[in-house]
Amino acid sequence: MGVESVNKINKVLVANRGEIAIRIMRACHELGIKTVGIYSKEDIGTLHRQKANESYLVGEDKSPTQAYLDIEEILALAKDKDVDAIHPGYGFLSENETFAQRCAEEGIIFIGPELQHLGMFGNKTRARETAISAGLKVIPGSEGVIDSVDEVYAFGQEHGYPLIVKAVSGGGGKGMRIVHDESQAQDAYDRTKSEAMNSFGNDHLYLEKYIDHPKHIEVQILGDQFGNIVHLHERDCSVQRRHQKVVEVAPAYHLSQTMRDRLSAAALQLMNHVGYVNAGTVEFLVSGDDFYFIEVNPRVQVEHTITEAITGIDIVKTQILIADGESLFGEAIHMPAQDAIEVQGFAIQSRITTEDPMNDFAPDTGKISGYQSPGGPGIRLDAGDAFRGSVISPYYDSLLVKITASGTTIDETISKMSRALDEIRVVGVTTNISFLKNIILHPMFYTGDYDTTFIQDFPELFD
Ligand code: ADP
Repeated sequence: MGVESVNKINKVLVANRGEIAIRIMRACHELGIKTVGIYSKEDIGTLHRQKANESYLVGEDKSPTQAYLDIEEILALAKDKDVDAIHPGYGFLSENETFAQRCAEEGIIFIGPELQHLGMFGNKTRARETAISAGLKVIPGSEGVIDSVDEVYAFGQEHGYPLIVKAVSGGGGKGMRIVHDESQAQDAYDRTKSEAMNSFGNDHLYLEKYIDHPKHIEVQILGDQFGNIVHLHERDCSVQRRHQKVVEVAPAYHLSQTMRDRLSAAALQLMNHVGYVNAGTVEFLVSGDDFYFIEVNPRVQVEHTITEAITGIDIVKTQILIADGESLFGEAIHMPAQDAIEVQGFAIQSRITTEDPMNDFAPDTGKISGYQSPGGPGIRLDAGDAFRGSVISPYYDSLLVKITASGTTIDETISKMSRALDEIRVVGVTTNISFLKNIILHPMFYTGDYDTTFIQDFPELFD
């Protein structure tokens, strides 16, 4: 497709806040696209509000999170301001089928996958069924949702313990519980059910066998509207706390090339099977020589930066251009052929959060009275409201700054990350910086030979 073709996107509304809103606005800026920001009344002093070409208060009479979730108010604003497309970022409305549907009805481009993909991947049992029909191996699990705790007992008898009870709509590590033996089944079932209802408004549960000491490896995919799909290699997201990612690394250098190729091939197989469009990630658990599909995230992810660092491909700009009708291999995107998408060096991302590692990672709030950002060669920052005078409220995700370090060897990359974590200063609000430093300097981290229990296995990381 030529550049003179069909481009419709001249103005984008960014339906998000914090670092990802700023990331998207930067991509738009580079593409010559105007941006509209939205902010809640609690977010009046935030940076994303200032980075947009124009920004508007939403949800004046709503709760802080509801402001970013009010589909009709956001759409009315978009129409009023002549917006062509909406980028939802991650979280909030990014995986909301109703929102994508309403965008389509209003003639506004939703920068994300097609409606059907949100449906098939938003629900984890449907995602499993889709993966099975594409020929991927999934973790042995219940057939669809379970109706009572008796199915947990039956599954345990058939497949053995431990098993894991999961919410079909779960996300962010919430809505899952490990059951080590029969005596824990009732409690796990009840608690997961109520947590799922409270957090996701859907209390349907399913079961999976608990995989012992797996690595979490995910493959980044980009697909256009013409059926072209590429992978941008994998990320190792095994450094997790309570099933949530803390530090991510690309590539997954501890795995054999054969395993890495198998994972990319499986991810492509699934996404080709469903005709996936836009950016998406296929997640796997790897255990020895086996790997199992766990889920697809049909959106840009927090850790997309490390893939950008090792491939030189701008995922967010590509998302926008795909939504604007460009071909992956046309002049505007100019994606190399699959074989030419090479891994260059290594990248690590650390998620700096306003949480207190000494107090069970309780979120801290208040005013940042002093801030110094790290910099120098090989360091990329994706910061949210990290500046002197910024007020960290209790209402939103506690992610403050993402540091991405890149280098030609893993040693060099770790040294750069270590230096950046030494340089950064956040005064007035507690952060997890010391915890991150302990992780990246741990001998096990360097080997890459860790799995999802790394953090719980080494209590000294909390010192
Ligand atoms: P979420 O959508 O909340 O991120 P996922 O299904 O992607 O949930 O799982 C998050 C993490 O939980 C995984 O990376 C892994 O560490 C752990 N996990 C999930 N399912 C299993 C399983 N069956 N066995 C072992 N660990 C699991």
